Amino acid sequence: MEHIKTDKTLVIIKPDGVQRSLIGEIINRYERLGLKLIAAKFLIPSEGLIEKHYTIDPEWIRKVGEKSIKSFIAKNIEPPSNDPIEFGKKVLGRLVKYLSSGPVVAMVWQGAHAVDLIRKINGGTEPLTSDIGTIRGDFVLDSYKLADVEDRCIRNVVHASGSHEEALEEIKSWFRPEEVLNYRLIQEEILYDVNLDGILE
Ligand code: ADP
Ligand code: MG
Repeated sequence: MEHIKTDKTLVIIKPDGVQRSLIGEIINRYERLGLKLIAAKFLIPSEGLIEKHYTIDPEWIRKVGEKSIKSFIAKNIEPPSNDPIEFGKKVLGRLVKYLSSGPVVAMVWQGAHAVDLIRKINGGTEPLTSDIGTIRGDFVLDSYKLADVEDRCIRNVVHASGSHEEALEEIKSWFRPEEVLNYRLIQEEILYDVNLDGILE
């Protein structure tokens, strides 16, 4: 089995993140934690790539619909649709438009618990309810309600893979194998090695 320190996750700084000049701020938050950048590109994604990205998990359409409906109900607001599949398809259409609307930064980050840690740093899907201190909580004011009134996507600055398996599939669709680099960071000795030998002279 591969060591947990080789866990990988895909991050996308969405078009609004690039437009808000948050590239450096976002990268800084992953970097300072000790995660390692192993692939990066700046591109305008095609609609096809975005559609493929969100349908890697065949359950995603239903799940995103259910999550959205729950969020409306929790705030005592009538959801725009009570059918999770119908709602999920609508979100997919909005996402395709949103994410292909301008340049994005796609990256692969590696390190122990990379998937969970990056989702923790990013915060929950809806900026209105995501925690203070997270990227989505600190830098955006969007909500399900606001997005729905305008029939657009929630603008929440970043994407990150939801699970280890999803990450492997997503990385494959955004990067060729040779674009994902294999190298060592000196700080990994401090993060992972059993003995901290070699500090004292
Ligand atoms: P996450 O990005 O937190 O993993 P999801 O995978 O559930 O969230 O949804 C993907 C993206 O779709 C979200 O980040 C958000 O930009 C957008 N989104 C999700 N639900 C809605 C909705 N009901 N209305 C508009 N946009 C949505
Ligand atoms: Mg997701």
